[in-house]
Amino acid sequence: MKIEEQVATLMQGTEYGDETLKQAMEDELLERLAKAEKVGRPLRVYAGFDPRTSDLHIGHTIPMNKLRQFQDMGHEVVFMIGTYTSLIGDPSDKDKLRPQLSADEVAENAKTYAEQAFRILDKTKTEVRYNSEWLSELSFGDLIHLASNFTVQQFMRRENFRKRWDEGDPVYLHETFYSIMQGYDAHILKADVQVGGTDQLFNIVTAGRKLMSALGDRPNIGVILGLLPGTDGEVKMSKSLGNHIPLNTDASDMFGKVMSVPDKAMGKYMRLATRWTSSEIAKREADVESGALHPRDAKMQIAEEITAFYYDAQAAEDAREAFVRVFQQGDMPEEMPSYSLNAGQSVLDVLVGAKLVKSKSEARRLVEQNGVRLDGETLEDANAAFPGPGVLQVGKRRFVRVEA
Ligand code: ATP
Ligand code: MG
Repeated sequence: MKIEEQVATLMQGTEYGDETLKQAMEDELLERLAKAEKVGRPLRVYAGFDPRTSDLHIGHTIPMNKLRQFQDMGHEVVFMIGTYTSLIGDPSDKDKLRPQLSADEVAENAKTYAEQAFRILDKTKTEVRYNSEWLSELSFGDLIHLASNFTVQQFMRRENFRKRWDEGDPVYLHETFYSIMQGYDAHILKADVQVGGTDQLFNIVTAGRKLMSALGDRPNIGVILGLLPGTDGEVKMSKSLGNHIPLNTDASDMFGKVMSVPDKAMGKYMRLATRWTSSEIAKREADVESGALHPRDAKMQIAEEITAFYYDAQAAEDAREAFVRVFQQGDMPEEMPSYSLNAGQSVLDVLVGAKLVKSKSEARRLVEQNGVRLDGETLEDANAAFPGPGVLQVGKRRFVRVEA
């Protein structure tokens, strides 16, 4: 592959929110790849993952797939497990202090992290490192030295901290250590490239590059990727928010969880979580737009593609068939009350009218929690017009057949 082509592939899916920064990173990548090729030395690439819980999820596979791309091009990959950073927890995308974990809790969570990652990374070509190896060795004097490269203002300008400041919520001093710790990881790992999601922009690009320069290294290039929303379709998929699709789940649960994601997030799922090319994605979007492809069928294709990636084509097909059986072909409870739809009814009206809920407020809450489905499709707006006849399901067990 020509170097320009490599750069284009490696920059695919990146998001910097700033064209100049993107261009700078792309230029540096091109330059470093060219040099690496000339001297016959692969690039060293790393990404860090904090074992704050034991599950890796599909969101994590966005940076992991990027690592895999580098690996497939012959570069050296480090899968870094943040056993020490996990003690604090990354404040990047959080609006309040995170609970501190004990070293034992973290060690327990980290046990299967690498094994889970090898569902994507090539085990024989991956270096696994734990950052407690070097961070636990730092003295107070070392921390003073590292921290003297930053000002309090730099941290307080960050959106997450500034918001808390403005609202009078506490920002604890140790939370500012997180970026310093991550920058020190980059220094120790002497990586050419660090991969992460857009929530890592400050850690990787602002703090990490600054600290590396101060410590006499060539700053690593940030390959910053878009974030996959969770099953709520809005907020970043995150293990600490509980809206995640774990890697360690079975094929039919994975399929079902993708099907429960609201339609509005499908574009991001296609772009970030499938192997489809941009033209394949554009074609599907155009077909949905023109009505040639039902949104539910488009989502089934996405669910099948994602499930096939982590399992195999057969498992994904079985999961789809089971899903269709349960949700579309009445292989549900044999007996099911029916309800006749009246013109002009909203989702709320039908839920109340069909006695699936006790009150309007319960109906609203269930819709907000993505607990209401029509033929397996999550209904997202309680006030929207009811879409039409089908099997209406509330929670796991309450069904009503809505008829015209
Ligand atoms: P926490 O909420 O505890 O911070 P996390 O789910 O953000 O957990 P991390 O270990 O902090 O997980 O993140 C590891 C890497 O995975 C980071 O580079 C992060 O940007 C990326 N990542 C995490 N969630 C997503 C997601 N939903 N989409 C894309 N990348 C993600
Ligand atoms: Mg995080």
